[in-house]
Amino acid sequence: MLAARAGARIVLLEADSAPQGASVRNFGLVTVSGQARGEVWSLSRRSRDLWRQIADEAGLAVLQSGMLIAAQSREAGDLLEAFLASEMGQACTPLSLGQAVSHCPLLRRDVLETAVWSPEELRVEPREVVPHLARHAARLGAVVRFDAPVAAVESGAVHLFNGERVRAGRILVCAGAGLRNFAPPELAARLPGVTKLHMLRLRPRTDAGQLAVPVISDLTLARYPGFAELPEAAGLKARIAARQPDMLSDGIHIIAVRCADGSVIIGDSHHPCAGDSADPFQPAETDARILKAAGDFLDLDGAQVIERWTGAYPRAEGGDWLIEETQPGVWLAGVLGGKGMTLAFGFAERALARTGLGAGVTA
Ligand SMILES: Cc1cc2nc3c(=O)[nH]c(=O)nc-3n(C[C@H](O)[C@H](O)[C@H](O)COP(=O)(O)OP(=O)(O)OC[C@H]3O[C@@H](n4cnc5c(N)ncnc54)[C@H](O)[C@@H]3O)c2cc1C
Repeated sequence: MLAARAGARIVLLEADSAPQGASVRNFGLVTVSGQARGEVWSLSRRSRDLWRQIADEAGLAVLQSGMLIAAQSREAGDLLEAFLASEMGQACTPLSLGQAVSHCPLLRRDVLETAVWSPEELRVEPREVVPHLARHAARLGAVVRFDAPVAAVESGAVHLFNGERVRAGRILVCAGAGLRNFAPPELAARLPGVTKLHMLRLRPRTDAGQLAVPVISDLTLARYPGFAELPEAAGLKARIAARQPDMLSDGIHIIAVRCADGSVIIGDSHHPCAGDSADPFQPAETDARILKAAGDFLDLDGAQVIERWTGAYPRAEGGDWLIEETQPGVWLAGVLGGKGMTLAFGFAERALARTGLGAGVTA
């Protein structure tokens, strides 16, 4: 998108007949609050600004702005106080319990300790965003080809499985969880596998309009590094370890977002898988835990699960992202871990700068 926007001649090759990867399986949430302090947090803000600008240009609806952070425990409240005092919390504001519930009537006031409003986030509909941006890139002159699985890349050319050869001066391999298939052995060793996640879509009994904004709570505060790496997170982590070890063993934290059709997406769990792809199994026990954790702070009585799916992304032990020239003029690029929706355009800008395509890419 950014390269097409800057006037480069682009050919985009996608293996599937429609986008099916992590980008259509997530929450559509571009999250700033909670990203790791420093470079990742700064890049997430840059990326969020680019998302807004590109959504505007491409006619892509931004469905929600901001995020409500609901603390269910005194320990989470203490952590939020420390977060607000840090540079990462400067744009955020504390909410009274009444304000929190009026922002989000689905919140269970009976368990609420304190709440904070973060204005930093935005949300788009994940299943629409990639096809929409692909159409927009095509309008900008990019050649967008679906059903075009890439078998191999070499300097100056991409080889498709159908035997076709596509010539290109610069090649970026952005294969998501499939990155390892294109990595030389020493680089593959730095990509230890993927993380598998469970996601659920609910039809709440009460009007889903009552979840007007994305919401996170204690389990996310103990997991997202922008909160969890603050020294004041120790109390919350100890509390969760003592009271909710099952949530930790499944890597569960809860994000809840309202979709355009009124349904609610909740997730997720995190299970490391050793290979290049996640196993396809979705144990009901993990889904039940996700529902329990969400119901601990949202009124989900009578909510019906209407969809379940899993997703995967490359694990992050190798760093936050990868931009590696593996052959002259061939780069492997991708965000590692669960922040690629957020960092998307900020990361793309960096990757393009590394390939020399960055000149003229401005926001
Ligand atoms: C359940 C879930 C929840 C998430 N939650 C968040 C979140 O809250 N915040 C956040 O910021 N991020 C989140 N993420 C992470 C985010 O979705 C990913 O980091 C991001 O979408 C990765 O984008 P990508 O383009 O690299 O990968 P993908 O969207 O997976 O796209 C890769 C594409 O490459 C194609 N491809 C692969 N191999 C080939 C080949 N040989 N030839 C041609 N095409 C090929 C695939 O078909 C696929 O379409 C979540 C991810 C999941 C799965």
